[in-house]
Amino acid sequence: MSKSTEKAGSSGRFGARYGVVVRNRVRDIDKMRTSAHECPRCHRDSVSRVSSGIWECSKCDAKFAAGAYSPISKKETSEEFKAAQAAKVESEANVKTKGA
Ligand SMILES: [Zn+2]
Repeated sequence: MSKSTEKAGSSGRFGARYGVVVRNRVRDIDKMRTSAHECPRCHRDSVSRVSSGIWECSKCDAKFAAGAYSPISKKETSEEFKAAQAAKVESEANVKTKGA
């Protein structure tokens, strides 16, 4: 990348327009959208975006639906979501042991 867009990144294409907050937001989303992500099937960093919400692994050809700009949604990475998932698994395990 050229020195002139070292700070602005992909949002350098907008020049001085639209305001810094919006430009930074676009830059962060662009980075997520275009970088390689881990494949849920083969676990290689080869997942790229086909279209909005559609992701494909170039190694194992797995194609799946996920977030529009990232295959890992904000919700999945949040601590609250992880805690809720853990609680859900735990409660399901309790039901199973009671039934047996
Ligand atoms: Zn894969």
